[in-house]
Amino acid sequence: MSNVSKEIVDIEKRGLMLVLSSPSGAGKTTISRSLLADDGNLSMSVSATTRAPRPGEVDGEDYVFMKPVDFNLLVNRDELLEHAKVFDHYYGTPRKPVEDALKQGKDILFDIDWQGTQQLAQKAGDDLISVFILPPSTQALEKRLKSRAQDSDEVVAKRMSKASEEISHWAEYDYVVVNDDIDRCRAEVKAILQAERVRRIRRTGLLSFVERLREGY
Ligand code: 5GP
Repeated sequence: MSNVSKEIVDIEKRGLMLVLSSPSGAGKTTISRSLLADDGNLSMSVSATTRAPRPGEVDGEDYVFMKPVDFNLLVNRDELLEHAKVFDHYYGTPRKPVEDALKQGKDILFDIDWQGTQQLAQKAGDDLISVFILPPSTQALEKRLKSRAQDSDEVVAKRMSKASEEISHWAEYDYVVVNDDIDRCRAEVKAILQAERVRRIRRTGLLSFVERLREGY
């Protein structure tokens, strides 16, 4: 056994906001779940939406499901960090949980569309890291949407036509990954998160840490 003692250094940092966007069916939910399961410092921003729950979706976990009138109240009270109409429904990010998590140095994951990403980018500046997930092909995307079997044919067709519009925003993102292999894609997003966490600008405790080092501690 080695007797070299390990010194754990915990340098204070500011939390970051990691946005994942993609057309529906490109694997974003699978990747988000796996990142959250593996990482105790990452929590999910639970959006509010006016769309109805799909089978298996839990209110307060997958989304906060609400009536349009209640959603409007949140907008009018400025309680959403961003909001947008996606397909035929409204979606938005509640402000308070995000602000609380960031203050505690926690990182937050967002599954939001390009409209929400643009709004957050304006507000969050360097705190925001955006990743766009592309499907490997149109056929693969359609197959994944159909195999979810949660949406009607009409909804699937609508989502397919929306996919190309969503994809047209790829160049607005910091990183772009192609989900041709879920394990590799997940590893790439994890690597992005790890690298972004050690960026100097986020590590607010570095200055005092280095000062102590140079003083001989
Ligand atoms: P779904 O209805 O399939 O859960 O989500 C449809 C789309 O809405 C997805 O592209 C998802 O990223 C986006 N979305 C979910 N929550 C939010 C949100 O709070 N804000 C914005 N702008 N988009 C969202």
